[in-house]
Amino acid sequence: LSGKLTGVFDKLRQRGALSEADVTEAMREVRLAMLDADVALPVVKDFTTKVRERAIGREVMDSISPGQAVAKIVNDVLIEALGGAGAVPLNLAAAAPVAILMVGLQGSGKTTTSGKIALRLHTRERRRVLLASLDTQRPAAQLQLQQLAEKARVSSLPIVPGQTPVQIARRAMETGRREGFDVVILDTAGRLSIDEALMAEVREIRAETNPAETLLVVDAMTGQDAVNTAKAFNDAVGVTGIVMTRMDGDARGGAALSMRQITGAPIKLTGSGEKLEALEDFHPERVAGRILGLGDLAGLVEKASETLDQEETEKLALKMMRGKFDLDDYASQIKQIAKMGSIGGILDMLPGMGKLKDQLGNKEIDTSILTRHGAIISSMTKAERRTPDIIKASRKKRIAAGSGSTVQEVNRLLKQFDDMSTMMKRISKLGVKGLMRQGMS
Ligand code: GDP
Ligand code: MG
Repeated sequence: LSGKLTGVFDKLRQRGALSEADVTEAMREVRLAMLDADVALPVVKDFTTKVRERAIGREVMDSISPGQAVAKIVNDVLIEALGGAGAVPLNLAAAAPVAILMVGLQGSGKTTTSGKIALRLHTRERRRVLLASLDTQRPAAQLQLQQLAEKARVSSLPIVPGQTPVQIARRAMETGRREGFDVVILDTAGRLSIDEALMAEVREIRAETNPAETLLVVDAMTGQDAVNTAKAFNDAVGVTGIVMTRMDGDARGGAALSMRQITGAPIKLTGSGEKLEALEDFHPERVAGRILGLGDLAGLVEKASETLDQEETEKLALKMMRGKFDLDDYASQIKQIAKMGSIGGILDMLPGMGKLKDQLGNKEIDTSILTRHGAIISSMTKAERRTPDIIKASRKKRIAAGSGSTVQEVNRLLKQFDDMSTMMKRISKLGVKGLMRQGMS
């Protein structure tokens, strides 16, 4: 398959622009690759339509080949469909004790993942975690969780025989409140397949505990079945996040794309082994690579990205030198800066910038918040983006509310933008000649 795909993209390379026929031909192969990766058929159809819409008629820059351009679009749309760049963290912003409800089919990895999340919250965030098993189906299930709790060095709810899952859930939350736990992880029983009794039970537990997260745990190896599971759980109980387990296996991860599309819930975490440490944030770009699963296509994407990065960077550098830069520019360049790691990375692209960087104090920009900034800027009006100075208290409040952020975050963005503008003004004052002189000396 890999060879076939390269052939198609190679053919495209010889031509000038992206015609409908070009894209159709390429998409046939991409479609097969995705089906091969166990992406559900309706999801594949949706995906290829999106790529076609974006690709046909698209002018291809001189610097990259049409084949690279299509490969890049395929990759971009796939990453977007998987949830965009960056991992979505667990939402624990509720009054303590915060409940996390683990749901899913039997054997999907709920109990193991409960232990993994407990370990992570305990060691990384110093949260006080209580693990509670509501699994009264299998005799050893509650013991299994207790042993995992010991390994993770967190507490587990004492086992009281004869209680129903709902009774255990109530007791867990009471214990959490009484003993000052930050987080209570509720590990439920699974079934071999979806049935109404299971759903009713989970609904009852949900109503009892009001969880901040209802995490659906799905085995990546289940492929297309994962879609049915995700749909059933989401319809019945509502899912706030997905955990894909067994990503250490040879599953291509197509289930991730299907589930994300069907439920709309972000994939938050992945399991990559049986050990408690084997829990990772979900990285859409990595899973995209895995779904396409083709060394050659990945190579094309990489080549295209590098070339485009270079062009973007040069454009940004020009703007900087002219000292003209508003919040719109900032927004459109955010991704770029995040990729480069720092504003210094962009300066490095220009001759003689090393010195200037030292003069400016080699100021690094915190890239982790840049993606949040994109959301905040999109809540601003055109006028606000052009002239950030007009953004005073009441506007800040509106922007914060509109982007699901806080006034402090808006302030932080404006401060960062201000820092960048100042730096650019200094650069533009020097002018190109000044820059060159700096470079020469
Ligand atoms: P549950 O029935 O949903 O609670 O599933 P368990 O947590 O008991 O997991 C079932 C089996 O899958 C156990 O043997 C786990 O060790 C294993 N398991 C869970 N997560 C992963 C994973 O990410 N990778 C691998 N390889 N095995 C896993
Ligand atoms: Mg279990």
